[in-house]
Amino acid sequence: MLQLLCGVLVITLFVCDAMLGRVCRWLRLLGYVAYYDLGRDDESLLEMVETSERVLLTRDLNLYRRALKRGVRAFYVEGDDFYDQLWSVAREFKLRLEIDPERSFCPRCGGKIRGARREEVAGFVSLSTLERYEEFWVCTSCGKVYWKGAMWRSMNRVLEKIKSKILLTPR
Ligand SMILES: [Zn+2]
Repeated sequence: MLQLLCGVLVITLFVCDAMLGRVCRWLRLLGYVAYYDLGRDDESLLEMVETSERVLLTRDLNLYRRALKRGVRAFYVEGDDFYDQLWSVAREFKLRLEIDPERSFCPRCGGKIRGARREEVAGFVSLSTLERYEEFWVCTSCGKVYWKGAMWRSMNRVLEKIKSKILLTPR
């Protein structure tokens, strides 16, 4: 999260626990740096956050309490499904709930995304997609190709629902 505090740019980096993989992918899409690794145990997650400016996002109350005890920045995420979880994080950190591919990170790997020419992605997307869309983006790290298709529209609907919920449930 980018915040301008007294003229100083503060960047919040999120570290998600094993239960928040989907939230992590959404955070990346929204342009936030978010880390997620199913293979990491609680202790190494805590160490990772402890020695950095990151914030731990967790659904695990025990892990949350351990983090607080150690003075690790942590947020206990509410909700059992990803929709409520994203709402919980968005409300707490006042996230910008807009997808701008120029700022997005790859949901799959967290890599930077850049605009790509149609000829570049030919062969990596279906012919009908290639004919139908003009704008494409590609992950500079894993190579995944993105475009503003049906998935894009449904993601924007999710974000609109979350924005309405935040308006109805201010802190
Ligand atoms: Zn990627």
